[in-house]
Amino acid sequence: MTSANPKRITVLGSTGSVGAQTLEVIGTFPERYQVVALAAGSNAEKLAEQVRRHRPERVSLADPEAASALGEALRDVEVEIGVGEAGLAAVAESDADLVVAAIVGAAGLPPTLAALRAGRDVALANKEALVMAGALVLREARASGARLLPVDSEHSAIFQALGGESRESVSRLILTASGGPFRTWSDDRIARASVEEALDHPNWEMGPKITIDSATLMNKGLEVIEARWLFDVPPERVDIVVHPQSIVHSLVEFSDSSVIAQLGLPDMRVPIAVALAHPERLELDLPRLDLATIAQFTFEAPDSKRFPCLDLAYRALAGDEAAPAVLNAANEVAVEAFLAGELPFPGIASTNAAVLEAHLAKVAKDGSVALREIFDVLRADAWGRGCARDILSNGENT
Ligand code: MG
Repeated sequence: MTSANPKRITVLGSTGSVGAQTLEVIGTFPERYQVVALAAGSNAEKLAEQVRRHRPERVSLADPEAASALGEALRDVEVEIGVGEAGLAAVAESDADLVVAAIVGAAGLPPTLAALRAGRDVALANKEALVMAGALVLREARASGARLLPVDSEHSAIFQALGGESRESVSRLILTASGGPFRTWSDDRIARASVEEALDHPNWEMGPKITIDSATLMNKGLEVIEARWLFDVPPERVDIVVHPQSIVHSLVEFSDSSVIAQLGLPDMRVPIAVALAHPERLELDLPRLDLATIAQFTFEAPDSKRFPCLDLAYRALAGDEAAPAVLNAANEVAVEAFLAGELPFPGIASTNAAVLEAHLAKVAKDGSVALREIFDVLRADAWGRGCARDILSNGENT
């Protein structure tokens, strides 16, 4: 079914991996989608190409020099060009039916909140918004009546498996994890893992930060936090199972013990298309899943002894509203240090654990921190980063 009026789409982070794939899907259906606004960081050249192809009304770049280069490159095109935080906010609040939030990291939180506050439905590819500020993001969405649609592949799988079922009939969400490159490695071998080995993900091609998070399984921990908020289920009802083939993208168990899974070859264009078209489906020209060729799926329990980051996510969820933001901040600092060769691989988990414990000890002494506004989130984030840097510079984990 094709609607008479094209759906108006804004993409935040349009030159990144998910943003560019979103425009690729949109470009296949010009009668269904109209791009109204785009925001990117500093890649003026790629954004200029996207503007010529998709003709948005408004764009913005974070970097001022890149924005003036974009203005030069697009002198013959009628488009509003913004810059910095104000430009990004204007793009986020543009009159769209759906905002695809695909800016990586903490920078994606303010425009996501701005879009929700303006009542725009948001397709969320930015995990950090829910990890750092789940309670706040949910409150904003409820207040304006905006919808949150998942783009993360596991959460898209759960969203699809849930269909129209009532929340009361859901007994468990089961996130699948590939297990990362060290799934079969011994403790000793993991302790000596190099940056190159950690960056060698078996199934998905992704940026370095999320690839390291897949090796530590912190990514799955962050996805537990994401699922807790996105589907509004208590953490004890979110489970993880390791599935090295990455074909079953996640599952939902219902009260009658029935389990519904979503399957497919790993390709981010599928969850992107699901979010864009919901409640319809797009016809995508992609390789089809051939079960007889794959022949075998395997599943195993995650090993939280070799991969302690998993338990940290649950521990953070059991803490106050700020604890997941603190854990996320510590992890970003620790992963950076590992990538720079300043920290051995197990140091990521031990740094994260030490920072989280320090935060929880502070909460036990001074009381919980509530996330009332973005300032509270940024303060928790800054505290986590500072604490992680202190621990790293004291060499406690190296
Ligand atoms: Mg994922």
